[in-house]
Amino acid sequence: MTAADRLATEGFGITHLPYGSFSASAAGPKLGVRLGGHVIGVAALLRHAGAAPGDIEATDGPNLDRLLTCDRAVWDRVRAGIVRALTEPSFAESVVAEAVPISEATLHLPFTVADYVDFYGNEFHASNVGKIFRPGQPALTPNWKHLPIGYHGRAGTIVPSGTEIPRPKGLRPEPEGPPTFGPSRRLDIEAEMGFVLGSPVPRGEVALADADGHIFGLVLTNDWSARDIQAFEYVPLGPFLGKSFATSTAVWVTPLAALERARTAPPAREPAPAAYLDDSTTPAWAFDIRIDVVLNGEVVSTAPYDTTYWTAAQMLAHMTVNGAGLRAGDFFASGTISGPERNQRGSFLEMSWGGTEPLSLADGTEISFLRDGDEVTLRARAVAPDGSTLALGECTGRVLPAR
Ligand code: CA
Repeated sequence: MTAADRLATEGFGITHLPYGSFSASAAGPKLGVRLGGHVIGVAALLRHAGAAPGDIEATDGPNLDRLLTCDRAVWDRVRAGIVRALTEPSFAESVVAEAVPISEATLHLPFTVADYVDFYGNEFHASNVGKIFRPGQPALTPNWKHLPIGYHGRAGTIVPSGTEIPRPKGLRPEPEGPPTFGPSRRLDIEAEMGFVLGSPVPRGEVALADADGHIFGLVLTNDWSARDIQAFEYVPLGPFLGKSFATSTAVWVTPLAALERARTAPPAREPAPAAYLDDSTTPAWAFDIRIDVVLNGEVVSTAPYDTTYWTAAQMLAHMTVNGAGLRAGDFFASGTISGPERNQRGSFLEMSWGGTEPLSLADGTEISFLRDGDEVTLRARAVAPDGSTLALGECTGRVLPAR
């Protein structure tokens, strides 16, 4: 029996191995890897596997930060070393002895967020929002199919799954007269896929074909949104306080290597994008991942990520094409993920069509936007490299009353 045989569970087997930051003692946080319901320190695993000192050093910190300064070759060696340690029968006793039940660990943000960019890359979502916010006008703005629209978010308000979310306050538009200040009346979620970046490029661009070398992993993300505050403030520079109060991410980063088999072709593009966004000859960068939106335990929507028009590789190429470069720990999110059907929408704004078609819940109540006390959890699944099901780390948060 290997450690993998003894600890793996469905969704978190030997072909997944997401990374996280955990504390299980007074010693402080460590970079860990998840296997089943346990987390194990990565540096200790690499010592078992006889990894090179430099690779051990890259993982011997509180989180992913050091590893993100390295390149793809190191990331691949580290993952191979982890697999070796978890599948060598002679290591099993000592590895299992080091495994900490997740229920006994404190989990932190898995990396220090450098810059945070939030994109708007899903056509179904963008069309729905266009129809709701700008009725009578074209659903998509003229630029939408030429570039992945994005804005800079607030890196400092990205919080780990489980963090409670006080209802934000701000200026809310009123049917007549000036806006009023108070708690948001239209608090919402956005089900998104987040991408963790590394192998820094101090100044310069990252070509679309080089995305594999810089996208370290994927993490489920809920970009909480106050629709009333957003609707009043967003013209002409885009979202600000309606978004920046909190963005939740899962505490487990799924490495790109675990999603090789989930890769799939993106939607057809019409018109053809500019050359720096042309992915017709590069590896497929869409992923067949289904995201459940769970409200107080009830699945209210299942959003298909593979419907998203712009891929992560295109987003990375776009955000660096002006020479901006990237830092280890930069982070971007896909934008709300929605499919063509009502039960595939990734926000309550869309599910309730701007509040005009409230959603009926199993308990008989109706909801358009979030109430104090509501808990929203994002869960996702994909096919793992061995054909089993891979469960992305969930992203959850509960709404507290305004402070
Ligand atoms: Ca968003």
